[in-house]
Amino acid sequence: MNLAQTLLRVARARPESLALLEGDRPLHTYGGLADRVARLAGALRRHGLQPGDHVLVFMRNHPAYLEILYGAWWAGLAVVPVNAKLHLREAQWIAEHARARAAFITADVGAGLVVPGPCIDVETPAYAALLQGDPAEVATRAPDDTAWLFYTSGTTGRPKGVQLTHRNLLTMALTYFADVDAIDPRDAIVYPAPMSHGAGLYALPHVVAGARHVVPASGGFDAAELFGLARSVGRLSMFAAPTIVKRLVDHAEAKGLDGEGFKTIVYGGAPMYLEDIRRALRVMGPRFVQIYGQGESPMVITSLDRRHVTDTGHPRYMERLASVGVAQTPVEVRIADASGQPLPLGEVGEVLVRGDTVMKGYWRNPEATAAALRDGWLFTGDMGSLDADGFLTLKDRSKDLIISGGSNIYPREVEEVLLQAEGVAEVAVVGAPDPEWGEVVVAFVVPRPGATVTQEALDATCLAQIARFKRPKRYEIVDTLPKNHYGKVLKTALRERITAPH
Ligand code: AMP
Repeated sequence: MNLAQTLLRVARARPESLALLEGDRPLHTYGGLADRVARLAGALRRHGLQPGDHVLVFMRNHPAYLEILYGAWWAGLAVVPVNAKLHLREAQWIAEHARARAAFITADVGAGLVVPGPCIDVETPAYAALLQGDPAEVATRAPDDTAWLFYTSGTTGRPKGVQLTHRNLLTMALTYFADVDAIDPRDAIVYPAPMSHGAGLYALPHVVAGARHVVPASGGFDAAELFGLARSVGRLSMFAAPTIVKRLVDHAEAKGLDGEGFKTIVYGGAPMYLEDIRRALRVMGPRFVQIYGQGESPMVITSLDRRHVTDTGHPRYMERLASVGVAQTPVEVRIADASGQPLPLGEVGEVLVRGDTVMKGYWRNPEATAAALRDGWLFTGDMGSLDADGFLTLKDRSKDLIISGGSNIYPREVEEVLLQAEGVAEVAVVGAPDPEWGEVVVAFVVPRPGATVTQEALDATCLAQIARFKRPKRYEIVDTLPKNHYGKVLKTALRERITAPH
Protein backbone atom coordinates (compact mmCIF):
# COMPACT_ATOMS: atom_id res chain seq x y z
CA MET A 1 0.00 0.00 0.00
CA ASN A 2 1.51 3.30 -1.10
CA LEU A 3 -0.44 6.57 -1.29
CA ALA A 4 1.51 7.42 -4.45
CA GLN A 5 -0.42 4.63 -6.23
CA THR A 6 -3.54 6.82 -6.12
CA LEU A 7 -1.76 9.44 -8.24
CA LEU A 8 -0.35 6.89 -10.68
CA ARG A 9 -3.81 5.39 -11.16
CA VAL A 10 -5.41 8.72 -12.13
CA ALA A 11 -2.41 9.70 -14.28
CA ARG A 12 -2.77 6.49 -16.29
CA ALA A 13 -6.52 6.61 -16.67
CA ARG A 14 -6.87 10.33 -17.42
CA PRO A 15 -3.43 11.78 -18.24
CA GLU A 16 -4.87 14.90 -19.91
CA SER A 17 -7.00 15.97 -16.93
CA LEU A 18 -5.88 19.22 -15.37
CA ALA A 19 -4.27 18.58 -11.97
CA LEU A 20 -2.63 21.76 -10.73
CA LEU A 21 -3.13 25.50 -11.05
CA GLU A 22 -1.40 28.47 -9.50
CA GLY A 23 -4.20 30.97 -9.09
CA ASP A 24 -6.17 30.47 -12.29
CA ARG A 25 -3.05 29.62 -14.32
CA PRO A 26 -2.94 25.92 -15.34
CA LEU A 27 0.42 24.27 -14.52
CA HIS A 28 0.23 20.49 -14.90
CA THR A 29 -2.07 17.73 -16.07
CA TYR A 30 -2.24 14.51 -14.04
CA GLY A 31 0.08 12.87 -16.59
CA GLY A 32 2.55 15.73 -16.28
CA LEU A 33 2.34 15.82 -12.49
CA ALA A 34 2.94 12.06 -12.15
CA ASP A 35 5.92 12.33 -14.50
CA ARG A 36 7.49 15.08 -12.34
CA VAL A 37 6.74 13.08 -9.19
CA ALA A 38 8.37 9.92 -10.58
CA ARG A 39 11.49 11.88 -11.60
CA LEU A 40 11.68 13.61 -8.23
CA ALA A 41 11.44 10.18 -6.57
CA GLY A 42 14.28 8.93 -8.77
CA ALA A 43 16.45 11.93 -7.78
CA LEU A 44 15.72 11.42 -4.08
CA ARG A 45 16.82 7.80 -4.33
CA ARG A 46 19.97 8.79 -6.24
CA HIS A 47 20.75 11.22 -3.39
CA GLY A 48 21.02 8.13 -1.20
CA LEU A 49 17.67 8.40 0.57
CA GLN A 50 16.30 4.99 1.54
CA PRO A 51 12.68 3.83 2.02
CA GLY A 52 11.56 4.88 5.50
CA ASP A 53 13.80 7.99 5.62
CA HIS A 54 12.22 11.29 6.64
CA VAL A 55 12.09 14.38 4.42
CA LEU A 56 11.23 17.74 5.98
CA VAL A 57 9.02 20.20 4.08
CA PHE A 58 9.32 23.75 5.44
CA MET A 59 7.84 26.08 2.85
CA ARG A 60 4.91 28.37 2.24
CA ASN A 61 2.01 26.98 0.22
CA HIS A 62 3.58 26.52 -3.17
CA PRO A 63 2.75 24.68 -6.41
CA ALA A 64 5.67 22.31 -5.68
CA TYR A 65 4.10 21.18 -2.37
CA LEU A 66 2.01 18.39 -3.88
CA GLU A 67 4.76 16.95 -6.05
CA ILE A 68 7.08 16.86 -3.04
CA LEU A 69 4.57 14.96 -0.89
CA TYR A 70 3.85 12.43 -3.64
CA GLY A 71 7.49 12.32 -4.80
CA ALA A 72 8.62 11.36 -1.31
CA TRP A 73 5.93 8.67 -1.02
CA TRP A 74 6.71 7.40 -4.55
CA ALA A 75 10.33 6.91 -3.37
CA GLY A 76 9.12 5.13 -0.19
CA LEU A 77 10.02 8.03 2.12
CA ALA A 78 7.94 9.72 4.81
CA VAL A 79 7.27 13.48 4.79
CA VAL A 80 7.53 15.85 7.74
CA PRO A 81 5.54 18.94 6.70
CA VAL A 82 6.24 21.82 9.09
CA ASN A 83 3.92 24.79 9.59
CA ALA A 84 5.45 27.68 7.61
CA LYS A 85 4.53 30.03 10.44
CA LEU A 86 6.93 28.37 12.88
CA HIS A 87 10.15 30.08 13.93
CA LEU A 88 13.32 28.70 12.29
CA ARG A 89 14.49 27.47 15.73
CA GLU A 90 11.25 25.51 16.15
CA ALA A 91 11.59 23.96 12.67
CA GLN A 92 15.24 23.12 13.35
CA TRP A 93 14.22 21.34 16.56
CA ILE A 94 11.64 19.32 14.59
CA ALA A 95 14.20 18.51 11.85
CA GLU A 96 16.55 17.08 14.46
CA HIS A 97 13.89 15.29 16.46
CA ALA A 98 12.45 13.75 13.27
CA ARG A 99 15.99 12.85 12.13
CA ALA A 100 15.10 14.32 8.75
CA ARG A 101 17.72 13.37 6.15
CA ALA A 102 16.74 15.98 3.58
CA ALA A 103 14.54 19.07 3.33
CA PHE A 104 12.60 21.13 0.83
CA ILE A 105 12.21 24.82 1.60
CA THR A 106 11.20 28.16 0.18
CA ALA A 107 13.83 30.76 1.13
CA ASP A 108 11.28 33.12 2.77
CA VAL A 109 10.41 30.40 5.29
CA GLY A 110 13.29 27.96 5.54
CA ALA A 111 16.54 29.85 4.86
CA GLY A 112 19.11 28.78 7.45
CA LEU A 113 17.62 25.32 8.12
CA VAL A 114 20.27 22.63 8.51
CA VAL A 115 19.79 18.92 7.73
CA PRO A 116 22.41 16.19 7.23
CA GLY A 117 21.53 15.70 3.54
CA PRO A 118 20.33 17.98 0.75
CA CYS A 119 18.29 21.08 1.72
CA ILE A 120 16.71 22.22 -1.52
CA ASP A 121 15.06 25.56 -2.18
CA VAL A 122 12.22 24.73 -4.60
CA GLU A 123 12.60 28.08 -6.37
CA THR A 124 16.21 27.45 -7.49
CA PRO A 125 17.73 25.60 -10.48
CA ALA A 126 18.86 22.87 -8.03
CA TYR A 127 15.21 21.87 -7.65
CA ALA A 128 14.48 22.05 -11.39
CA ALA A 129 17.51 19.77 -11.95
CA LEU A 130 15.95 17.07 -9.74
CA LEU A 131 13.06 16.85 -12.18
CA GLN A 132 15.33 16.19 -15.19
CA GLY A 133 16.66 12.73 -14.28
CA ASP A 134 15.23 9.25 -14.78
CA PRO A 135 11.90 8.36 -13.17
CA ALA A 136 11.64 5.73 -10.41
CA GLU A 137 9.03 3.00 -9.96
CA VAL A 138 6.57 3.43 -7.09
CA ALA A 139 8.21 1.89 -3.98
CA THR A 140 6.39 -0.86 -2.12
CA ARG A 141 5.23 0.16 1.33
CA ALA A 142 3.47 -1.76 4.09
CA PRO A 143 0.13 -0.34 5.29
CA ASP A 144 1.62 0.47 8.70
CA ASP A 145 4.69 2.27 7.36
CA THR A 146 4.74 5.95 8.23
CA ALA A 147 3.80 8.31 5.40
CA TRP A 148 3.46 11.63 7.23
CA LEU A 149 5.08 12.67 10.49
CA PHE A 150 2.74 15.35 11.78
CA TYR A 151 4.17 17.55 14.52
CA THR A 152 1.59 18.87 16.98
CA SER A 153 2.24 21.14 19.90
CA GLY A 154 2.76 19.19 23.09
CA THR A 155 1.66 19.84 26.67
CA THR A 156 5.28 19.59 27.75
CA GLY A 157 6.20 22.55 25.58
CA ARG A 158 7.84 20.39 22.91
CA PRO A 159 5.95 19.23 19.84
CA LYS A 160 5.17 15.55 19.37
CA GLY A 161 5.57 13.72 16.06
CA VAL A 162 2.34 11.89 15.21
CA GLN A 163 3.17 8.91 12.96
CA LEU A 164 0.47 8.69 10.30
CA THR A 165 0.67 5.59 8.16
CA HIS A 166 -0.30 4.90 4.56
CA ARG A 167 -3.34 3.02 5.91
CA ASN A 168 -4.33 5.98 8.14
CA LEU A 169 -4.17 8.45 5.28
CA LEU A 170 -5.80 6.27 2.64
CA THR A 171 -8.66 5.65 5.08
CA MET A 172 -8.87 9.40 5.76
CA ALA A 173 -9.03 10.08 2.02
CA LEU A 174 -11.75 7.52 1.32
CA THR A 175 -13.77 8.70 4.32
CA TYR A 176 -14.07 12.13 2.72
CA PHE A 177 -16.32 10.55 0.06
CA ALA A 178 -18.44 8.77 2.64
CA ASP A 179 -18.87 11.49 5.24
CA VAL A 180 -17.95 14.89 3.80
CA ASP A 181 -18.64 15.19 0.09
CA ALA A 182 -18.58 13.47 -3.29
CA ILE A 183 -15.79 14.75 -5.57
CA ASP A 184 -16.02 15.02 -9.35
CA PRO A 185 -12.91 15.46 -11.58
CA ARG A 186 -14.30 18.88 -12.56
CA ASP A 187 -14.16 19.99 -8.90
CA ALA A 188 -11.27 21.95 -7.47
CA ILE A 189 -9.70 22.29 -4.04
CA VAL A 190 -8.00 25.53 -3.08
CA TYR A 191 -5.30 25.88 -0.41
CA PRO A 192 -5.60 29.15 1.49
CA ALA A 193 -4.64 27.42 4.79
CA PRO A 194 -1.26 25.79 5.54
CA MET A 195 -0.70 22.68 3.39
CA SER A 196 1.32 21.25 6.28
CA HIS A 197 -1.99 20.70 8.10
CA GLY A 198 -5.64 19.96 7.34
CA ALA A 199 -5.69 21.76 3.99
CA GLY A 200 -2.81 19.60 2.73
CA LEU A 201 -4.38 16.40 4.07
CA TYR A 202 -7.47 17.13 1.98
CA ALA A 203 -5.29 17.08 -1.13
CA LEU A 204 -5.41 13.27 -0.82
CA PRO A 205 -9.11 12.66 -1.55
CA HIS A 206 -8.87 15.21 -4.36
CA VAL A 207 -6.00 13.25 -5.93
CA VAL A 208 -7.96 10.01 -5.54
CA ALA A 209 -10.85 11.65 -7.43
CA GLY A 210 -8.59 13.28 -10.03
CA ALA A 211 -9.87 16.79 -9.21
CA ARG A 212 -8.03 20.10 -9.74
CA HIS A 213 -5.71 21.56 -7.08
CA VAL A 214 -5.40 25.32 -6.80
CA VAL A 215 -2.56 27.02 -4.93
CA PRO A 216 -3.51 30.69 -4.48
CA ALA A 217 -0.99 33.04 -6.12
CA SER A 218 -0.74 34.84 -2.76
CA GLY A 219 0.27 31.53 -1.13
CA GLY A 220 -2.19 32.18 1.70
CA PHE A 221 -5.56 33.55 2.70
CA ASP A 222 -6.92 36.55 0.85
CA ALA A 223 -10.71 36.75 0.77
CA ALA A 224 -10.90 38.84 -2.41
CA GLU A 225 -8.56 36.43 -4.22
CA LEU A 226 -10.65 33.43 -3.13
CA PHE A 227 -13.90 34.94 -4.38
CA GLY A 228 -12.07 35.72 -7.64
CA LEU A 229 -10.93 32.09 -7.93
CA ALA A 230 -14.44 30.86 -7.15
CA ARG A 231 -15.59 32.83 -10.20
CA SER A 232 -12.74 31.94 -12.57
CA VAL A 233 -11.91 28.34 -11.55
CA GLY A 234 -15.33 27.39 -10.13
CA ARG A 235 -16.57 24.32 -8.18
CA LEU A 236 -14.16 25.29 -5.42
CA SER A 237 -13.87 23.41 -2.13
CA MET A 238 -11.62 24.23 0.78
CA PHE A 239 -10.83 23.44 4.39
CA ALA A 240 -11.05 26.44 6.68
CA ALA A 241 -10.77 27.14 10.39
CA PRO A 242 -13.70 29.13 11.83
CA THR A 243 -11.65 32.35 11.75
CA ILE A 244 -11.18 32.02 8.00
CA VAL A 245 -14.86 31.22 7.44
CA LYS A 246 -15.74 34.37 9.36
CA ARG A 247 -13.44 36.50 7.22
CA LEU A 248 -14.85 35.03 4.02
CA VAL A 249 -18.37 35.80 5.18
CA ASP A 250 -17.36 39.34 6.25
CA HIS A 251 -15.95 39.90 2.78
CA ALA A 252 -19.03 38.48 1.06
CA GLU A 253 -21.29 40.68 3.15
CA ALA A 254 -19.21 43.80 2.61
CA LYS A 255 -19.12 43.28 -1.17
CA GLY A 256 -22.66 41.98 -1.57
CA LEU A 257 -21.47 38.54 -2.77
CA ASP A 258 -23.01 35.12 -2.22
CA GLY A 259 -21.32 31.73 -2.34
CA GLU A 260 -21.38 31.34 -6.13
CA GLY A 261 -18.42 29.32 -7.39
CA PHE A 262 -17.82 27.67 -4.01
CA LYS A 263 -18.86 24.05 -3.77
CA THR A 264 -18.05 22.99 -0.22
CA ILE A 265 -16.38 24.73 2.68
CA VAL A 266 -15.31 22.21 5.29
CA TYR A 267 -14.87 23.89 8.64
CA GLY A 268 -13.19 22.53 11.74
CA GLY A 269 -10.03 22.63 13.78
CA ALA A 270 -11.58 24.86 16.45
CA PRO A 271 -15.03 25.56 17.90
CA MET A 272 -17.41 27.40 15.58
CA TYR A 273 -19.76 29.85 17.29
CA LEU A 274 -23.42 29.12 16.48
CA GLU A 275 -24.06 32.69 15.40
CA ASP A 276 -21.11 32.57 12.99
CA ILE A 277 -22.21 29.41 11.18
CA ARG A 278 -25.80 30.69 10.94
CA ARG A 279 -24.60 33.91 9.36
CA ALA A 280 -22.30 31.94 7.02
CA LEU A 281 -25.27 29.87 5.86
CA ARG A 282 -27.40 32.97 5.37
CA VAL A 283 -24.75 34.76 3.33
CA MET A 284 -23.08 31.94 1.38
CA GLY A 285 -25.76 29.27 1.24
CA PRO A 286 -25.78 25.52 1.99
CA ARG A 287 -22.09 24.98 1.30
CA PHE A 288 -20.83 24.03 4.74
CA VAL A 289 -19.77 20.72 6.29
CA GLN A 290 -18.14 20.45 9.70
CA ILE A 291 -15.46 17.98 10.69
CA TYR A 292 -13.82 17.31 14.02
CA GLY A 293 -10.47 15.59 14.07
CA GLN A 294 -7.01 15.97 15.51
CA GLY A 295 -3.47 15.23 14.36
CA GLU A 296 -3.72 11.84 16.05
CA SER A 297 -6.80 10.88 13.95
CA PRO A 298 -6.47 13.31 11.09
CA MET A 299 -9.69 14.98 9.87
CA VAL A 300 -11.62 11.93 11.04
CA ILE A 301 -13.45 11.74 14.35
CA THR A 302 -16.93 13.15 13.67
CA SER A 303 -18.64 15.13 10.93
CA LEU A 304 -21.78 17.22 10.63
CA ASP A 305 -22.75 16.81 7.01
CA ARG A 306 -24.41 19.33 4.71
CA ARG A 307 -27.84 17.87 5.34
CA HIS A 308 -27.56 18.23 9.10
CA VAL A 309 -26.03 21.70 8.82
CA THR A 310 -29.06 22.86 6.81
CA ASP A 311 -31.87 20.75 8.32
CA THR A 312 -33.58 23.78 9.92
CA GLY A 313 -36.89 21.92 10.26
CA HIS A 314 -35.47 19.36 12.68
CA PRO A 315 -36.71 19.85 16.26
CA ARG A 316 -33.16 19.71 17.60
CA TYR A 317 -31.56 21.64 14.72
CA MET A 318 -29.80 24.21 16.91
CA GLU A 319 -28.40 21.55 19.23
CA ARG A 320 -27.09 19.64 16.26
CA LEU A 321 -25.58 22.73 14.68
CA ALA A 322 -23.76 23.40 17.94
CA SER A 323 -22.46 19.81 17.96
CA VAL A 324 -19.61 18.36 15.89
CA GLY A 325 -21.88 15.71 14.35
CA VAL A 326 -21.65 11.93 14.37
CA ALA A 327 -18.73 9.49 14.26
CA GLN A 328 -17.23 9.27 10.78
CA THR A 329 -17.53 5.90 9.06
CA PRO A 330 -14.21 4.23 9.93
CA VAL A 331 -14.16 5.10 13.63
CA GLU A 332 -16.00 4.41 16.87
CA VAL A 333 -16.38 7.25 19.36
CA ARG A 334 -16.91 6.74 23.07
CA ILE A 335 -17.15 9.03 26.10
CA ALA A 336 -15.20 7.81 29.09
CA ASP A 337 -14.18 8.80 32.59
CA ALA A 338 -10.57 9.40 33.59
CA SER A 339 -9.92 5.65 33.92
CA GLY A 340 -11.30 4.92 30.45
CA GLN A 341 -14.65 3.46 31.64
CA PRO A 342 -17.50 4.30 29.24
CA LEU A 343 -20.02 6.85 30.58
CA PRO A 344 -23.80 6.85 30.01
CA LEU A 345 -25.34 8.98 27.24
CA GLY A 346 -25.46 12.67 28.02
CA GLU A 347 -22.63 12.64 30.54
CA VAL A 348 -19.52 14.68 29.89
CA GLY A 349 -16.23 12.83 29.73
CA GLU A 350 -13.15 12.48 27.58
CA VAL A 351 -13.66 11.70 23.89
CA LEU A 352 -12.07 8.37 22.90
CA VAL A 353 -11.64 7.20 19.30
CA ARG A 354 -10.82 3.83 17.77
CA GLY A 355 -10.37 2.94 14.09
CA ASP A 356 -8.12 2.88 11.06
CA THR A 357 -7.35 6.60 11.04
CA VAL A 358 -5.85 6.54 14.53
CA MET A 359 -2.08 7.10 14.52
CA LYS A 360 0.50 4.38 15.04
CA GLY A 361 1.98 6.38 17.95
CA TYR A 362 4.30 9.31 18.60
CA TRP A 363 7.75 9.11 17.03
CA ARG A 364 10.46 8.51 19.64
CA ASN A 365 8.08 9.20 22.51
CA PRO A 366 6.85 5.92 24.07
CA GLU A 367 5.58 7.63 27.27
CA ALA A 368 3.32 10.01 25.36
CA THR A 369 2.18 7.12 23.12
CA ALA A 370 1.29 4.97 26.14
CA ALA A 371 -0.70 7.86 27.62
CA ALA A 372 -2.62 8.62 24.40
CA LEU A 373 -3.24 5.06 23.15
CA ARG A 374 -4.74 2.77 25.76
CA ASP A 375 -6.47 -0.58 25.06
CA GLY A 376 -6.74 0.32 21.40
CA TRP A 377 -8.44 3.68 22.07
CA LEU A 378 -7.07 7.17 21.38
CA PHE A 379 -7.58 9.52 24.34
CA THR A 380 -8.15 12.83 22.55
CA GLY A 381 -7.90 15.20 25.52
CA ASP A 382 -11.21 16.74 24.38
CA MET A 383 -14.23 16.65 26.67
CA GLY A 384 -17.73 16.10 25.34
CA SER A 385 -21.00 14.19 25.51
CA LEU A 386 -22.96 12.00 23.11
CA ASP A 387 -26.73 12.15 22.61
CA ALA A 388 -29.03 9.23 21.81
CA ASP A 389 -28.70 9.88 18.05
CA GLY A 390 -24.90 9.74 18.18
CA PHE A 391 -24.24 13.49 17.97
CA LEU A 392 -21.15 14.60 19.87
CA THR A 393 -21.03 17.98 21.57
CA LEU A 394 -17.61 19.20 22.69
CA LYS A 395 -17.61 20.97 26.03
CA ASP A 396 -14.09 21.82 26.91
CA ARG A 397 -10.63 20.49 26.61
CA SER A 398 -8.97 18.48 29.32
CA LYS A 399 -5.67 19.82 28.07
CA ASP A 400 -4.68 23.45 28.54
CA LEU A 401 -4.69 24.02 24.79
CA ILE A 402 -5.50 27.43 23.30
CA ILE A 403 -6.81 27.47 19.72
CA SER A 404 -6.31 30.84 18.04
CA GLY A 405 -7.41 31.18 14.43
CA GLY A 406 -7.37 27.37 14.14
CA SER A 407 -3.73 27.09 15.28
CA ASN A 408 -2.97 25.20 18.47
CA ILE A 409 -0.91 26.88 21.14
CA TYR A 410 0.10 25.21 24.36
CA PRO A 411 0.46 27.78 27.17
CA ARG A 412 3.53 25.98 28.48
CA GLU A 413 5.45 26.73 25.26
CA VAL A 414 4.82 30.46 25.62
CA GLU A 415 5.43 30.42 29.38
CA GLU A 416 8.83 28.78 28.95
CA VAL A 417 9.90 31.53 26.60
CA LEU A 418 8.53 34.44 28.66
CA LEU A 419 10.31 33.12 31.73
CA GLN A 420 13.58 33.79 29.91
CA ALA A 421 12.83 37.51 29.61
CA GLU A 422 14.85 39.84 31.82
CA GLY A 423 13.24 40.59 35.19
CA VAL A 424 10.45 38.00 34.93
CA ALA A 425 9.68 35.96 38.05
CA GLU A 426 6.51 34.11 37.15
CA VAL A 427 4.25 33.71 34.17
CA ALA A 428 0.87 32.16 33.45
CA VAL A 429 -0.61 32.04 29.96
CA VAL A 430 -4.30 31.51 29.26
CA GLY A 431 -6.71 31.83 26.35
CA ALA A 432 -9.28 34.60 26.26
CA PRO A 433 -12.42 34.38 24.12
CA ASP A 434 -12.18 36.54 21.04
CA PRO A 435 -14.84 37.11 18.38
CA GLU A 436 -12.35 37.07 15.51
CA TRP A 437 -9.75 34.47 16.50
CA GLY A 438 -11.88 32.19 18.70
CA GLU A 439 -9.29 32.65 21.43
CA VAL A 440 -6.27 34.89 21.89
CA VAL A 441 -3.22 34.37 24.07
CA VAL A 442 -3.05 36.46 27.25
CA ALA A 443 0.01 36.38 29.52
CA PHE A 444 0.01 37.27 33.22
CA VAL A 445 3.54 38.28 34.19
CA VAL A 446 4.94 38.80 37.70
CA PRO A 447 8.17 40.86 37.69
CA ARG A 448 11.06 40.07 40.05
CA PRO A 449 11.23 42.37 43.08
CA GLY A 450 12.59 45.74 41.99
CA ALA A 451 12.56 44.85 38.28
CA THR A 452 10.52 46.59 35.62
CA VAL A 453 9.19 44.51 32.77
CA THR A 454 7.94 46.11 29.58
CA GLN A 455 5.57 44.68 27.00
CA GLU A 456 8.11 45.51 24.30
CA ALA A 457 10.81 43.40 25.99
CA LEU A 458 8.40 40.49 26.48
CA ASP A 459 7.32 40.70 22.87
CA ALA A 460 10.92 40.79 21.65
CA THR A 461 11.74 37.65 23.67
CA CYS A 462 8.83 35.83 22.05
CA LEU A 463 9.66 37.04 18.55
CA ALA A 464 13.21 35.70 18.91
CA GLN A 465 12.10 32.18 19.76
CA ILE A 466 8.57 31.22 18.80
CA ALA A 467 6.16 31.66 15.93
CA ARG A 468 4.48 35.06 15.73
CA PHE A 469 1.00 33.59 16.06
CA LYS A 470 1.88 32.18 19.50
CA ARG A 471 2.80 35.60 20.90
CA PRO A 472 0.46 36.97 23.57
CA LYS A 473 -1.94 39.55 22.18
CA ARG A 474 -2.16 41.02 25.70
CA TYR A 475 0.13 41.21 28.71
CA GLU A 476 -1.11 41.81 32.24
CA ILE A 477 1.69 42.79 34.63
CA VAL A 478 0.60 41.64 38.10
CA ASP A 479 2.08 41.39 41.62
CA THR A 480 1.08 37.77 42.25
CA LEU A 481 -0.67 34.85 40.56
CA PRO A 482 -3.66 33.15 42.19
CA LYS A 483 -2.59 29.71 43.46
CA ASN A 484 -4.08 26.76 45.28
CA HIS A 485 -2.67 25.07 48.40
CA TYR A 486 -0.22 23.07 46.35
CA GLY A 487 1.14 26.21 44.72
CA LYS A 488 -0.51 25.37 41.35
CA VAL A 489 -1.59 28.44 39.43
CA LEU A 490 -5.37 28.70 39.23
CA LYS A 491 -5.83 29.29 35.55
CA THR A 492 -9.61 29.28 35.86
CA ALA A 493 -9.36 32.30 38.16
CA LEU A 494 -7.16 34.05 35.61
CA ARG A 495 -9.61 33.28 32.80
CA GLU A 496 -12.43 34.70 34.91
CA ARG A 497 -10.39 37.82 35.51
CA ILE A 498 -10.11 38.34 31.75
CA THR A 499 -13.77 37.83 30.98
CA ALA A 500 -15.06 39.80 34.00
CA PRO A 501 -15.88 43.40 33.12
CA HIS A 502 -13.12 45.76 34.29
P1 AMP B 1 -4.93 19.50 15.66
O1 AMP B 1 -4.28 18.32 16.28
O2 AMP B 1 -4.01 20.64 15.40
O3 AMP B 1 -5.70 19.13 14.44
O4 AMP B 1 -6.01 20.09 16.73
C1 AMP B 1 -7.04 19.26 17.13
C2 AMP B 1 -7.90 19.89 18.19
O5 AMP B 1 -8.68 20.96 17.65
C3 AMP B 1 -8.93 18.89 18.69
O6 AMP B 1 -8.40 18.04 19.66
C4 AMP B 1 -10.03 19.80 19.20
O7 AMP B 1 -9.73 20.29 20.50
C5 AMP B 1 -9.99 20.96 18.23
N1 AMP B 1 -10.99 20.80 17.16
C6 AMP B 1 -10.83 20.19 15.96
N2 AMP B 1 -11.96 20.23 15.23
C7 AMP B 1 -12.88 20.87 15.98
C8 AMP B 1 -14.25 21.23 15.80
N3 AMP B 1 -14.91 20.94 14.67
N4 AMP B 1 -14.88 21.89 16.81
C9 AMP B 1 -14.24 22.19 17.95
N5 AMP B 1 -12.93 21.90 18.19
C10 AMP B 1 -12.27 21.24 17.22
